[in-house]
Amino acid sequence: MKIDLRSDTVTKPSDGMLNVMMNARVGDDVYKEDETVNKLETRLAKLFGKSDALFFPSGTMANQTAIKLHTNPGDQVICDKYAHIFNYEGGGASFNSGVSCKLIDGFRGMFTAQQVEEAINPPNFYHSPLSTLVAIENTTNKGGGACWDFKELQKIKTVCETNNLGFHLDGARLWNALAVKKESAEDYGAIFDTISVCLSKGLGCPIGSVLIGNATIMKKAIRIRKILGGGMRQVGFLAAAGLYALDNTLDLLKHDHTKAKDIASVLKQSSYVSGVEPVDTNIVIFTLGNKYTETSFIELLKRQNILISNMGDGKLRIVTHLNYNNSMHHVFLKALKVL
Ligand SMILES: *Cc1c(COP(=O)(O)O)cnc(C)c1O
Repeated sequence: MKIDLRSDTVTKPSDGMLNVMMNARVGDDVYKEDETVNKLETRLAKLFGKSDALFFPSGTMANQTAIKLHTNPGDQVICDKYAHIFNYEGGGASFNSGVSCKLIDGFRGMFTAQQVEEAINPPNFYHSPLSTLVAIENTTNKGGGACWDFKELQKIKTVCETNNLGFHLDGARLWNALAVKKESAEDYGAIFDTISVCLSKGLGCPIGSVLIGNATIMKKAIRIRKILGGGMRQVGFLAAAGLYALDNTLDLLKHDHTKAKDIASVLKQSSYVSGVEPVDTNIVIFTLGNKYTETSFIELLKRQNILISNMGDGKLRIVTHLNYNNSMHHVFLKALKVL
């Protein structure tokens, strides 16, 4: 039995999902004639209370398109030092949009409205880059799956409005936050100009992300997606997986969260662990004491067919997901206890 806890992207489609994919009604989505894609886009736009949504092959491309929609070359994006758009999108913000990032030194990937205010360059001071966009992540990836306080996001929205800044949500794992905080997609739609969500993480789809926003800003999104090479043809086979996931897997996220908490509590009691970050959702980040190095610890687990990630800076990461089942959980907890 292989137990892969490196990421929630490692899931494979279930038989039920594969079945709807194989039977999807498709058309050429570059002509907007794929009825399954159209159905998924309409459903997600509605869910978030927005007019438009657009299907993307990856979350990276959806985020990169959003950055392009909100900025001009030379502008500056305000985000956390842990942000995926800054750390894990290959430098795409500068490559695709010609923008720099002003990094906020946040807490677990999150920051306050006051920190945003302090990060804004005065618009008349033409020596500095023009601040035009604030981008946040919910849940935070490098921040350990942390969920934002919605009230703080509302305050940041006010700062954005006052200072004429766009507000983008990298919601790759927003589904996890919604499941824990009992908030609605519509709440998020009301304060963000653009939202990207992944179908390929907690929801178990093989591929797919969607960018959501109102027509005014989304009008140009399809052109940018085309430029980035993301215009796909009979892609309804993949969108069908998204529709299936929205119907069948949203309710299962809570099990990933419970398992992550179980893992964290075993780690906390283990003498070889020096610290475990708080667990809000499906990500567990922890550090080791002197008994093992990160590399030797990962190697030791690997010999038992268990895979976890090294995040650098002494941090190790475990991510629970749809394909991490109860028997794997049992085996893994036992393995951690005897190390
Ligand atoms: C996974 C992830 C993305 C997008 O990743 P892709 O692999 O390009 O789909 C974006 N933001 C965050 C926070 C992520 O964790």
